[in-house]
Amino acid sequence: MIVVVGGGVTGLSTAFWLARGGHAVTVVEKGIVGWEASGRNGGGCSHAYSPLFREEQRLWPMMDELLGHPTEWRPNRIRIALDAGQLERLAAGSRIAADQGFRIERLDHAQLREFVPWVGDDVAGAFFWHCGGHANPQRTSQAYAWAVERHGGRVMQHTAARAICVRGGRAVAVETSAGEIGCDAVVVAAGPHGAALMAPLGHRVPIAPARVEMIVTEPLPAIAHGGVDGNGLYGRQTLRGNLAYGGGPHEWLDIDGEATPRAVNTPVVASLARRLTELFSRLGHVRVIRSWGGVVENTPDGRPILDRLADPSNVIFASMSSVGFGLSPATGRALAQIVLQGHCDFADLSQLRLSRFGNLPLDWRARMGWEALPA
Ligand SMILES: Cc1cc2nc3c(=O)[nH]c(=O)nc-3n(C[C@H](O)[C@H](O)[C@H](O)COP(=O)(O)OP(=O)(O)OC[C@H]3O[C@@H](n4cnc5c(N)ncnc54)[C@H](O)[C@@H]3O)c2cc1C
Repeated sequence: MIVVVGGGVTGLSTAFWLARGGHAVTVVEKGIVGWEASGRNGGGCSHAYSPLFREEQRLWPMMDELLGHPTEWRPNRIRIALDAGQLERLAAGSRIAADQGFRIERLDHAQLREFVPWVGDDVAGAFFWHCGGHANPQRTSQAYAWAVERHGGRVMQHTAARAICVRGGRAVAVETSAGEIGCDAVVVAAGPHGAALMAPLGHRVPIAPARVEMIVTEPLPAIAHGGVDGNGLYGRQTLRGNLAYGGGPHEWLDIDGEATPRAVNTPVVASLARRLTELFSRLGHVRVIRSWGGVVENTPDGRPILDRLADPSNVIFASMSSVGFGLSPATGRALAQIVLQGHCDFADLSQLRLSRFGNLPLDWRARMGWEALPA
């Protein structure tokens, strides 16, 4: 039995790949599946910086069929720069995708306007990525959970993992609010709560929780490629036509116990709305109808941690550092392989080991200016 702690997209995708392969798996989720960052995010699936990018791009077009439920995945990404600095960063990111064999096209203003009629004249440049994409986070989270169950796995909601019980250098059980569950291996994919589960095992996981927020506008007529980024914002047009956008700044938090603070901070929402009307200057009249917050965890170098511990050797740890939704099909497949065979055979994940933070000073959050804001 493999126990997965955390019913976000990382844990659920891992459980899906394991269950699909015929392995006994139980997911324990302290709340309901996808209720934390996994169901609250921007839905972007375009992580060119990740060693899992190729697999992310290979898998997304198949996910609806693999999971047996719609994720609302849509291909391609349009990326817009409003000034020279943004254009430089955009070009650098586009080169990273192009260097991996993906087609990236520079758009002139007329072409951009054809794709995105909402932009004004203040555009410094734009790219069309013939890769990347976006999906509906809530539908995707639920689709993973149903697929786990269809393949014979178990998803226990409202069940919190309290501790990992170790005997003879191996995890033998997970102590939960519903009793002890015996295990052959444990995958910890508990988002910002993962560090607390790892500390009693003697592992310090440097992650700083932060709240990030999204706004949603009233619906607009659908455009052909609704995944459009720029001006520090990421987001998508939903199938109904609403624009759902997020994009910092991070509000650093401390997390105690099992609760996750999510209340929305009005200045951040106002900043999102302002930047959205700068990006789409023809949409100044469109109303924001909803907003919400979600909590992500961030590592010091901004990259995920995906690792099988040396001790206890059957504990696998995952923390996605703010980029976990889009990568989830690939992350789950990689983690399933790490559980079963000790390594991932389709991507080099050595740069994502926990040990890279071995020499990190204890006060790293203070040094980076990532300490929680006063309440
Ligand atoms: C507003 C916002 C926008 C974002 N935009 C994007 C985007 O466009 N693209 C992208 O790729 N990523 C995006 N992200 C990041 C992405 O959502 C996360 O990286 C991803 O969802 C992480 O998934 P996870 O399963 O690792 O963690 P989580 O979604 O945090 O799930 C962890 C789960 O573990 C559960 N849990 C915690 N402790 C315990 C315990 N002790 N016992 C049992 N269960 C426990 C929690 O309840 C939770 O459901 C965004 C995030 C937010 C908040």
